Amino acid sequence: MRVSRLMLVTLRDDPAEAEIPSHKLLLRAGYIRRVGSGIYAYLPLLWRVLQKISAIVREELNASGALETLLPQLQPAELWQRSGRWAGYTAGEGIMFHLEDRQGRELGLGPTHEEVITALAADLLRSYRQLPVNIYQIQTKFRDEIRPRFGLMRGREFIMKDGYSFHADEASLRETYAAMDHAYRRIFSRCGLRAVAVEADSGAIGGSASQEFMVTADAGEDLILSSPDGRYAANQERAVSLAPEAVPLPGGVRAAGEGEALSTPAHTSIEDLCAAHNLDPTQLVKVLLLLARFEDGLQQPVLVCLRGDQQLNEVKLANALTARCAAEHGVLLEIAPLTAEAAAKEGLGSIPFGFMGPHLADALLAGARSWQPRFLRLADATATALPAFVCGANAPDSHRLGAAWGSALCPAPESLDLRAAQPGDRCLHDASQRLVASRGIEVGHIFQLGRKYSEALEATFTNEAGVDEALWMGCYGIGVSRLAQAAVEQHHDANGICWPTPIAPFEVIVVIANGADPIQTALAERIYAELQAAGIDALLDDRSERAGVKFKDADLLGIPWRVVVGRGAAEQQLELVQRAGGSKQELPAAALLEALLPRLEAERNGLPTAG
Ligand code: ATP
Ligand code: MG
Repeated sequence: MRVSRLMLVTLRDDPAEAEIPSHKLLLRAGYIRRVGSGIYAYLPLLWRVLQKISAIVREELNASGALETLLPQLQPAELWQRSGRWAGYTAGEGIMFHLEDRQGRELGLGPTHEEVITALAADLLRSYRQLPVNIYQIQTKFRDEIRPRFGLMRGREFIMKDGYSFHADEASLRETYAAMDHAYRRIFSRCGLRAVAVEADSGAIGGSASQEFMVTADAGEDLILSSPDGRYAANQERAVSLAPEAVPLPGGVRAAGEGEALSTPAHTSIEDLCAAHNLDPTQLVKVLLLLARFEDGLQQPVLVCLRGDQQLNEVKLANALTARCAAEHGVLLEIAPLTAEAAAKEGLGSIPFGFMGPHLADALLAGARSWQPRFLRLADATATALPAFVCGANAPDSHRLGAAWGSALCPAPESLDLRAAQPGDRCLHDASQRLVASRGIEVGHIFQLGRKYSEALEATFTNEAGVDEALWMGCYGIGVSRLAQAAVEQHHDANGICWPTPIAPFEVIVVIANGADPIQTALAERIYAELQAAGIDALLDDRSERAGVKFKDADLLGIPWRVVVGRGAAEQQLELVQRAGGSKQELPAAALLEALLPRLEAERNGLPTAG
């Protein structure tokens, strides 16, 4: 390929729309162009990168016995209604683009394909003799993300590899899940990425075990908590840990019942309260009010108690609410803080924000117009473990000192794990290990779904004993377009991108220093032809730009190897430059292939680069 034919427009300055290095570089180097919010054109250079990533994905998945297919992106609402996900994906914060066709039938644009594939499995898979099967596709997905950002990292239209497996029993599902784990590790490593596997929340997809693959990078949206011994790593959404020990209340405090009154004028924050009364945040129980909205219209006020030093993990709370309410009230559509304004609109009296205690009475909700007139009361285990604590008195400017659970005033709420694990916390598997934080970009996610979808969509098979059972199911995703950008996030320097060779759009760029010099041009053309004949992906910069401009662009584009044909051309001399690290070597044209090929071959196989 010739640069003059590439429609290449590079930008000297960082585009205003980009915040993180990889997004800036992909725009500046002419790999992508924004078409709309979260919508990007993959220009020819990036398309080559995406094709190379896809080829690696295909090789590894095919080797594991998976089969490629292609499923429709337009999906009838009826399938999603049967699985119970239509409302959750289209109402509230739902991310499915949906539309009505000319006959008035509702359709969704596929954000994922569990429903379509399970309906097919119901149709095609009849007997245990056909199992297991594992099929995948590489295709554009559509998600109306609430905050599309960072270019290809969180797009509204993006390329995903999604795979689904069906099994006669759980053991077979576990086997395929392990095979996918293995294939994913090979895929990311062959793409030149440093990726780690972490325990993950299963989210709206559902199911039991799930694991994410994170490319470690400061710009990552996800927080990973891991133990230095390498035995534990989890997404913070899911992470568990031992909280710091609570500081006991001073000996003189009577720990019983409602405790004693503590005057706390205007001490609405934990910091103020602790400073004014010489308390430690671990001695406090704080109360959060939230409002959960469910599919059937239920608006449920939720009262959450946390120990004063702890933070709420909203994913754990959403899972707890779903477990308690979804069977009766459908999908949890939204959970948001319950504000004074919302309470006033609902016709309720004033809520003692800043001074709330666990015993905040349901009577407060008595006049509610549309909310459930009762709190759903949940508490984190670190709060319920306190024998005595300080809490709000549910009246302005006052708290209670030495309150205890179980009294009439503080009935013990349901206790569960709702706290966000934090860096520095002790680990459950070994209390001498402390969690460390790092940031990651989620590039893959594998799930053991179990029988949730097969039961909902009646996908059954006949087992060896001749009895019908629901299929066991797994699903496996890779964000192909996100992965391409994650690679840039991990591999760049001040001058531009440094693509890992296996996914670079080209392996070598031949730069003609002076395009007006016929000797340089002739030698460059010959080298370019020789490289191609040797099976090397070569790009020729044949533009009539100044040498400096071409060198800058070559750095920006990030092709792993650069061959410069300059003044030495008359003596058949070339310069070979490695993009990562910038090492340079003068050599005769006749020695180029011999010098380059072994290095390229090693790099293509994902071995560390020599030199
Ligand atoms: P996230 O938590 O980042 O929103 P997800 O957990 O919803 O992602 P999955 O349903 O697991 O995503 O999708 C499989 C893979 O697709 C993800 O691991 C990620 O790499 C990629 N992906 C998901 N959403 C997007 C998006 N909006 N843009 C680009 N890639 C995405
Ligand atoms: Mg995911």
